[in-house]
Amino acid sequence: MEIIYKKLGANKNVTGSKHFLELGKDSILIDCGLYQGPWEVEKKNWEELDIDLAKLKAVVLTHAHLDHSGYIPRLYKKGFKGDIYSTYLTSKLATIVIEDSASIMAQTAKKNAENMGKKSKYGELLYSEAEVNHSLKRFIIKKEKESFTIGAFTLKFHRAGHIPGASLLEVFVGNKSLLFSGDLGRQDDILMKEPDYLDLKKYDYVFSESTYGNREREPQITQYDEVLKLLKERKSKGSSILIASFAIARTQGLMYLVDKVLRDHPELEVDCFLDSPMGIRASEAILSGHDDSFQVSKEDLERSFLRFKFCRESWESNELFEKDGPRLIISSSGMLSGGRVLKHFSKFAENEDDFIFLPGYQGEGTLGRSLIAGEKKVSHEEKEIEVKATIVSSMAFSSHADQGEILDFISHVSAQETKVILSHGEVESMAALKEKIIQQVLEEDFLQLS
Ligand SMILES: [Zn+2]
Repeated sequence: MEIIYKKLGANKNVTGSKHFLELGKDSILIDCGLYQGPWEVEKKNWEELDIDLAKLKAVVLTHAHLDHSGYIPRLYKKGFKGDIYSTYLTSKLATIVIEDSASIMAQTAKKNAENMGKKSKYGELLYSEAEVNHSLKRFIIKKEKESFTIGAFTLKFHRAGHIPGASLLEVFVGNKSLLFSGDLGRQDDILMKEPDYLDLKKYDYVFSESTYGNREREPQITQYDEVLKLLKERKSKGSSILIASFAIARTQGLMYLVDKVLRDHPELEVDCFLDSPMGIRASEAILSGHDDSFQVSKEDLERSFLRFKFCRESWESNELFEKDGPRLIISSSGMLSGGRVLKHFSKFAENEDDFIFLPGYQGEGTLGRSLIAGEKKVSHEEKEIEVKATIVSSMAFSSHADQGEILDFISHVSAQETKVILSHGEVESMAALKEKIIQQVLEEDFLQLS
């Protein structure tokens, strides 16, 4: 019998990850991600998948990010009847991520329906909140290094270090062995330990991500230094900082860093707030699932969270909005594309002494992207805002391995026995990485761009 492999997403781009494997009557899907980005990319979510969903045995998730998990409810809507396998923290965080995505979709559809004459891009809702509730009951939790079987497949999760719960996935099927990197973490992350550097010689195929295949972080600028500099500048002006942050992992890493800097430099003390319902849920989930894949101890993480006042209810958020005087607020979304951060942005932007910190990737077409491009007049809810605050962006906070770190990971393969398949990267990124791999690790025959 032949093993069949199909790549159903993240093809020469970085979203919509889905790897399909089949042997005889058994098939699984590794990751089940949503396409995200401009409408030309996003509309692929409505296309039919080229597989028999009624026969699909299971979905196995490497981690919780929407571009790896967000398509799950759609799969059930289209006839999938199996279970979802993941680590504990992936199940908890994917639940938060998918529920948030469903609620944004429902709000967008409602707004579009109200906006008569404007054609809804969500003609048919990708999935409803009821479909989400049904699918999120299907998680089966597996520990790292615990071997489990799904039909003809024997699988095992290893630490990926990318975000809490994130895993590399080992698959044995027929007489072949495969390793999927999911998203690969960095070697010096604040929250997570580095990925497990496995002996890749034993695998016939290694599927490696290549998001930052053409980039190296500047090692001399650390996340700690960035936060310290920001807090010092704030102190000298007696002003405030708004941080637009992704709710999962980035927010918790920032709370830990801010607390660490303020403990080292008590003279920089400032009132700190977390105004993100999703960030609060994620923080609680992360504490509940803290394990030895974390770089930071549970006690230190918890102590850093306690420095922040959590604004759960909207009245608490409004009260914070009304507040004047020096403060540091972490809020979402990370690209200023929605959420409570927008309200604070409209106030902070107009004060020339304040700082707006964007520590994450800013997608095309987002308000965050306009700000880092230096635009001084932006519109929000049909109101024009003059940007007088200082905009600070940083690439130091990425949770992906950079080029050198991916090469380190791949260098553990045997040149003659393992085939490396690059995925989850833009075309230029994969091409640059390919060149480096051929120079340093493998002959071209053993490398494949998907
Ligand atoms: Zn990811």
